[in-house]
Amino acid sequence: MFYEGRMRNIITIDGPASSGKGTVAKIIANRLGFSYLESGAIYRALGLWVYKNKLSDNALNSEVLNLIDSLNLKFVGDQVLLNGSNVTLQLREEFIGMLASKYSAIPDVRAKLLQFQRNFAGNDNLVTDGRDMGSIVFPNARLKIFLTASAHKRAERRFKQLHQLDKSVTIESILNDIMARDLQDSTREVAPLSYDSSFYVLDNSELTIDETINFILSRYNSATH
Ligand code: C5P
Repeated sequence: MFYEGRMRNIITIDGPASSGKGTVAKIIANRLGFSYLESGAIYRALGLWVYKNKLSDNALNSEVLNLIDSLNLKFVGDQVLLNGSNVTLQLREEFIGMLASKYSAIPDVRAKLLQFQRNFAGNDNLVTDGRDMGSIVFPNARLKIFLTASAHKRAERRFKQLHQLDKSVTIESILNDIMARDLQDSTREVAPLSYDSSFYVLDNSELTIDETINFILSRYNSATH
């Protein structure tokens, strides 16, 4: 059984793409004075690193694994540095999300990135979001949330963000990407997107960000008092 050291307070927020988990996790970490780990950024950085190294679409799993050895990832404030370059904006691109989803399905890739995630904040209290943070990475977390929303709502939210940067995106293409990623992430053999009875499930299709945050904070207060 994995041992998490002294009684750290860890809140995990898992959920599908564009459920708002990153936004709320960051704000909750700030409010509570906890560290924050966006685990999706690790898989996205790997996707970008594979892309930059021009591995073919049919690259062997072992070639992807080898690249992890040269992936030097740092989180500095709101920035993600990949081998010294600020890649924060690039990581948000839709095709990088798809690459992340593809390579994160390789069991050895996940195993290799597991310790990095567990060690990330040392013994600090932590809020973290992703797909398997409550199920695999921090199974003993103090509070586990599964945050979701309908695919249409998620596509709408993503469209609002992306449209500011790229006027050519359409809501249909975003919805297709979201559904493809949902399918890939929830049907893979290792660490699929899922939850069990130790999670609180929150569908925030009709909630604002503040309402979502308040729900999670009240659950956290009940869990710690
Ligand atoms: O959360 P985000 O959409 O940025 O994650 C990008 C991709 O990385 C996901 O679609 C998923 O395939 C993968 N991922 C994962 N496990 C995590 C976080 C992200 O497999 N804990």
